[in-house]
Amino acid sequence: VISVEQALEKILSYADVLEAEPVPILDAIGQVLAEDVYSDISIPPLDNAAMDGYAVRAKDTEHASAQSPVLLKVIDTVSAGSISRKKVTPGTAIRIMTGAPVPEGADSVVRFEDTDETARQKKAKAGSPAEIGILYPAKPGLNIRQAGEDVAKGAHILKKGTVIRPAEVGVLASLGRPTVLAIRRPVIAILATGNELVEIGKPLPPGKIYNSNTYSVAALVKRYGGIPKVLGIALDDEKSLVSKLREGLDADMLITSGGVSSGDYDIVKDILAKEGEITFWTVRMKPGKPLAFGRIRGKSKAGAVKYIPHLGLPGNPVSSMVTFELFARPAMYKMMGKKPLPKPAVKAVIEQPVTNRDGRRVYLRAIVTKRNGTYYASLTGPQGSGILTSMSLANGLAIVPEDRAEIRAGEIVDVIMLDWNEEVNL
Ligand code: AMP
Ligand code: MG
Repeated sequence: VISVEQALEKILSYADVLEAEPVPILDAIGQVLAEDVYSDISIPPLDNAAMDGYAVRAKDTEHASAQSPVLLKVIDTVSAGSISRKKVTPGTAIRIMTGAPVPEGADSVVRFEDTDETARQKKAKAGSPAEIGILYPAKPGLNIRQAGEDVAKGAHILKKGTVIRPAEVGVLASLGRPTVLAIRRPVIAILATGNELVEIGKPLPPGKIYNSNTYSVAALVKRYGGIPKVLGIALDDEKSLVSKLREGLDADMLITSGGVSSGDYDIVKDILAKEGEITFWTVRMKPGKPLAFGRIRGKSKAGAVKYIPHLGLPGNPVSSMVTFELFARPAMYKMMGKKPLPKPAVKAVIEQPVTNRDGRRVYLRAIVTKRNGTYYASLTGPQGSGILTSMSLANGLAIVPEDRAEIRAGEIVDVIMLDWNEEVNL
């Protein structure tokens, strides 16, 4: 019998960081940057107006006031995306829109509100007046965004190892980069085992149940940034298991469900041992006590022999999801070059008493709410590991430590938050 930590350590020791590949920036969300990104350009590329107004020489406006505006001749209008061919010389101004490059000769932008434009437009009805009155003195640099103020040309912008979030996607786009080098997503082969299983969409004969595990597990793989390769259902016999298994040997990890409890323990064990090496563990946890782990002889893209980690999850639908969160997710993260951090957790007041007589760490499906700044965890109801709807009701897993035989209502427990965003770039 081993602890959750011992099991995780062993699993992580078999997971290797995958190679990097060029990825279109939008597809790279959640992946880890595999290059240092430098900028070939300045952002913004030129000094430009931060406000709609008039580009002027600050010196011309020194004596401006509302009572005696400084009158400047308007020689051009420039909007974002174009460059004025005119130069601002003493006594002149160029009407300018936000984002437009500041014309030569000008050193400040006086916003419309600080000119007499509105009064003039009322009289003349024209867009751009021939002359403008400046009502306040402008300082050099007023309302000008400096070239390179966001990004200087040649600057180191993004560090290798950064998890790519929407902000990084935007920054890469602002640098003009369509693709970026990122650690590739792991392909996870997923196989259900069990003579009782029927594929969804088919009629349900007596004595059978629908296969749900490959779906919940594939959904988790997707959620954590991997690519599921669903192999379907294998019967509890050697021929079926081996032939299904073969389809998954080019994956980066194999996840099976079922066939690890004492009933059908042996057949799966024997077959998987033949195809690689496999250990069955009893992990001191509930749900998810039986867990298989090992390596399967697979092949690389080039066809060479390589060993791929195999995680044999218990068949019970709740157990397979909980053990995925605890063991498969960190392994995937390691492959993706991320820190295999645990999921975010909170301290919460548990609302029902819990008993835990056999010294295992118990993960209870809970509904977490926040009231007056305190988190409360209320159990979803019956905690049988076959009750998959309880996972759907839950947004957290409340943890009862192995050494606590009893927890009273009102005690504080740790609760893993199932739907909280991952903590990245810490
Ligand atoms: P096993 O670990 O194979 O003994 O399975 C334990 C329990 O989980 C049994 O009640 C199985 O019917 C059920 N089970 C196993 N695999 C699946 C699956 N893919 N979908 C739904 N239930 C399953
Ligand atoms: Mg089974």
